[in-house]
Amino acid sequence: MLARESLYGKFQILILIFSKWLRKIELRMHIVIISTPLGFLGSGKGGGVELTLNSLVNGLLGKGHKVDVVAPKNSKLLEASNKAKLYFVEGVEQKSWQHQDYYSSVNIPDNSLLAGMIEKAIYIGKKADIILNFAYDWLPIWMTLNIDIPIAHLISMSSESFVISNLISYVYSKHPYNFAFHSKIQASDYHFINNPIVIGNGFELGNYIFQDCKNGPLAWVGRVAPEKGLEDAAYVANALGEKLNVWGIVQDESYALKIEKLCSPGILEWKGFLETDSLQKELGTCRALLNTPKWNEAYGNVVVEALACGVPVVAYKRGGPSEIIEHGKTGYLAKPDNKESLLNYLEIINKIDRKNCREWVENNASSNIFATKVVSWLNKVIKKN
Ligand code: UDP
Repeated sequence: MLARESLYGKFQILILIFSKWLRKIELRMHIVIISTPLGFLGSGKGGGVELTLNSLVNGLLGKGHKVDVVAPKNSKLLEASNKAKLYFVEGVEQKSWQHQDYYSSVNIPDNSLLAGMIEKAIYIGKKADIILNFAYDWLPIWMTLNIDIPIAHLISMSSESFVISNLISYVYSKHPYNFAFHSKIQASDYHFINNPIVIGNGFELGNYIFQDCKNGPLAWVGRVAPEKGLEDAAYVANALGEKLNVWGIVQDESYALKIEKLCSPGILEWKGFLETDSLQKELGTCRALLNTPKWNEAYGNVVVEALACGVPVVAYKRGGPSEIIEHGKTGYLAKPDNKESLLNYLEIINKIDRKNCREWVENNASSNIFATKVVSWLNKVIKKN
C-alpha cells in the first residue's frame, strides 16, 4: 500500500515538473528587435540605446526567449548577447532628433537604413510573436497602425520632435500598451500619456567591477554634444583645479573646442570612446562622476554604470538621473544649471559609501530585472493587440 502511494506521489511530481516545463515553452517568445538607425552597434552614435539593447538581449536570452536583432551593417553585439541572430541592413543613416529643430519635418533619405530595417523586421517578424522597436523615429511608430504583427516601442528620448510626439499621441489613443519609457520624468514629456509603462533600464553587472578609490580624478562620460552640458563639469573641475577625465565620442567638434578653451591646461583629459570593459576599469578609479545634462535625459546610462563601479554621482536634479540617484546615499542632486551647487556637493562627495552605489544597481537595474519588466510589458502588448 505504502509503495503504491509513494509511486503515485512521484507520478504527481513528474506531472508538475512536466506542466511547468510546458508552460515555460509556451511563455517563450520570439522577439525581433529593430536597432537604432543612427549608426552601427558599437559605433557610439546610438548613445545609450546601444548598451540598453545589448543588456536586454542578454536578459531575454537568459530567460529562454528567442531574439533576432535587425541592425545596421558592421554592428556587433557584446559577448554576452551574441547568441541572438543578427541581421544586417545597409543604407543611409537617420539624423538624430536631438540635433534637429523641434518642428522639423520627417526626413527619410533615399536608400533609407531605417526603412530597410523595418522591412527586414517585418519579414522576419511574420514568424515571430512581436517586434520591439528601439528607433526613436516616425516611420516605425506609424507602422503600428499598418501591420498585423504587434510592434512595441521603447521610447529612448523625451519629446524631441513635434511630429513624432503628435504621432505617438495618435497611435497611443488606439494602442495604449505599445509604448514604454525609461523613467517617469521622461514619460511626463508626453503629457497625453496616462499611467505610462515605465521600465527603467538594465545592466550586465558582471561587466562592472566595484572599486573603492576615493582619491581618483573626476569623471564625465557621454556624447560630447551641447545637450550633455560638459561645459558645467569643466567649469567645476577648473575651479577646483582637479583633473576631469572625459569619455565619449565627440559629436560636435566646435563645441568640444569651446570647452577646451574654458579650462586651464591639464584639467581636461580627453579619453575618447572606450568599450564597456575598458571604460568601467578606468571609470572605477574616479572619485565622482559629474552628470550635467541640459535636456530632459530619458534615463542616463552612464550614471548607473558609474554606480555599478562604486563611483558616486553628482548630477543636476533633472531627467532620469533625478530618479536614479538617492540624494545623500549614492550621490547628490544639484540645482539644475547651478555650478555652485555642483561645487558644494563635490566637496562632500567622499561622505558617500561607495558600496551603496553598487548595491543600488544590483537591487534595481540588473539586466535580469530589466528583462523581467520588458517581458511582462511585451506580453501585455501581445494580449491587447
Ligand atoms: N559610452 C561608451 N564608451 C564611452 C563613453 C560612453 O560605451 O567611452 C556609452 C555608455 O556606456 C552609455 C552611452 O555611451 O551606454 C551613453 O548613454 P546615456 O544614456 O548616458 O546618454 P545618451 O547618449 O543615450 O544620450
